[in-house]
Amino acid sequence: MAKSLKLVLLGPPGSGKSTVAEQISKKYSLQDVYMGQILRDEIKKDTIVGKEIAKYLNKGELVPGNFVSDLIYLIVHKKTKFMLDGFPRTVQQAEYIQDMKININCVLMLEVPESEVIKRLSLRRVCPNCRTQYHLKFFAPKNKNICDKCKTKIIRRNDDNPKIIKERFRVYHQKTAPLIKHYSDQNILYTVDASKNPKEVIKEVIKKLNKISKGKNQSKSKR
Ligand code: AMP
Repeated sequence: MAKSLKLVLLGPPGSGKSTVAEQISKKYSLQDVYMGQILRDEIKKDTIVGKEIAKYLNKGELVPGNFVSDLIYLIVHKKTKFMLDGFPRTVQQAEYIQDMKININCVLMLEVPESEVIKRLSLRRVCPNCRTQYHLKFFAPKNKNICDKCKTKIIRRNDDNPKIIKERFRVYHQKTAPLIKHYSDQNILYTVDASKNPKEVIKEVIKKLNKISKGKNQSKSKR
């Protein structure tokens, strides 16, 4: 694997970014930075900042301003191997970190039809303690509503209800989807068919990353 892998996971809500991030970060020793979870953890602490952030998350809107981008800078500016899940979500955020010399070199776009992800989100449950994600039909916990790993009662995320899901999609199309062209213009965008089951998706991601890494190493040795 290339020495520097600064990876971004793109895709609509429910496309499986976090599942991919969990598996891939382990396999390639990448720091997994899941912005949505960082924000939810802050809300859980019930700080002034957390209360402010909650106003946006509960409506399905993006946290405004440079707060999130500054946080990313603090977490990764000295790192050479990381994976960003849920960041950037706007071209402005992408340009902001680029200006701060955080040079993303690989973007994986998880493609899934909207009808499919809406179905997935309505059946998604998470463990509020260890963060394990479940799908009530395809990846249900062994004991009803109890997390397999830490035995906490699993819950539905506040923003996984139909009204908020609709808003999150509106925000995705308006603000996040332009990143596809942004990164494609930089020749670092790779698409993955994420409509398949998680195992197959991970397999395809690994295949792609190995190929990308081979390319990087080859172009490096040519220089
Ligand atoms: P996620 O867990 O990725 O679905 O994110 C949940 C929510 O966190 C989003 O709907 C936004 O409200 C907020 N959020 C996550 N990432 C960002 C970001 N890069 N910029 C602003 N808000 C974000």
